[in-house]
Amino acid sequence: MIPQSRQILWNLGRRRYSPTMAENPLRVLRDQIDALNGDLLHLLNERLQLIEQVQELKARTGRPMFDPARESRELDGMLLANRGPMTADQVRAIFKEVFKLSLGHMQQETRRVLRVHRGEQPDSIYEIAGHSFGGSAQLIAGPCSVESAEQLDLVAGKLRSLGVRFLRGGAFKPRTSPYSFQGLGIAGLRMLREAADRHGMAVVSEILDPRHIDAALEYSDVLQVGTRNMYNYELLKLLGRSNKPVMLKRGFMATLEEFILAAEYIAHEGNEQIILCERGIRTHEKWTRNTLDLAAIPLLRQETPFPVVVDVAHGTGRKDLMVPMARAAIAAGANGVMVEVHPNPPLALSDNEQQMDFDEIETFVGAVLG
Ligand code: PEP
Ligand code: MN
Repeated sequence: MIPQSRQILWNLGRRRYSPTMAENPLRVLRDQIDALNGDLLHLLNERLQLIEQVQELKARTGRPMFDPARESRELDGMLLANRGPMTADQVRAIFKEVFKLSLGHMQQETRRVLRVHRGEQPDSIYEIAGHSFGGSAQLIAGPCSVESAEQLDLVAGKLRSLGVRFLRGGAFKPRTSPYSFQGLGIAGLRMLREAADRHGMAVVSEILDPRHIDAALEYSDVLQVGTRNMYNYELLKLLGRSNKPVMLKRGFMATLEEFILAAEYIAHEGNEQIILCERGIRTHEKWTRNTLDLAAIPLLRQETPFPVVVDVAHGTGRKDLMVPMARAAIAAGANGVMVEVHPNPPLALSDNEQQMDFDEIETFVGAVLG
């Protein structure tokens, strides 16, 4: 049977009549080329269908999707069989594209079967300590590190008066140097809880170590996974077995594919209350602390049903950029923006350059949400 694609191309190429070679050799040759194009198209599609079957089989038997040794054997076989006029280099180049096509197709298929894949799912909206999260943009604000009960009470009071409902604060601090302030630990979590309860707010705080899971569940409403831990799959699995929302920050060198797969680790264990946080990635740029990837916002929202938060504090490290970047994030579809606030930033024990004082946060809230 003539493949349908060949028939269509052949019909398209056919004009009123089919000339003979003597009448119009160019037309005859071109008609043959059109027919072969149809065959190639049909064969490539047939090959992709077989790839889909192989993928399904591999998924069922737990075998790795990508098998470079097999590709290399396929290529060797074709080089042996090649009788020209294609050169060996041309055969290699063309099949490199064919293999790339299969890999891309497989990756697309893999994404479609992920739990975190949006599919037909509506936007996820969570009820967190009496506040809804996931629809229109919310602010998550608070100090970089929890330093004292007084500091938190002042910050929470100010934020609440500005309408902020989500209080952040690091009790366990992942610092670049082991000699920098490491956080107040569980005592800090307790202070966060007290300040949040006093002011009717929800607590967002980072968990670094699986040994702190009980305390984190007791005192926090949203468990934050920091950029350094996005690849800590054991921690992600543990959080996946909890019943509290997890805010997963993008690894500072993670691709979006890796970010989404990290979220899959959480969802795979049963917890689908996930918030994705874009916090900038490391590039060659030196004028900002990180390069905030704004394209990640619509991409993550297209690919998953989860709310996306943009941390403009760690994402830029610069107070003069926070208003424009927060506005840009919301315009691009972010469901939340995170910033750092301290009663006296120059005296802060961490990130004192990027924490806003009370006047600055007031201006920021007015400019971004007002
Ligand atoms: C934080 O939000 O406190 C933090 C440490 O951020 P990141 O993990 O993005 O560096
Ligand atoms: Mn910080």
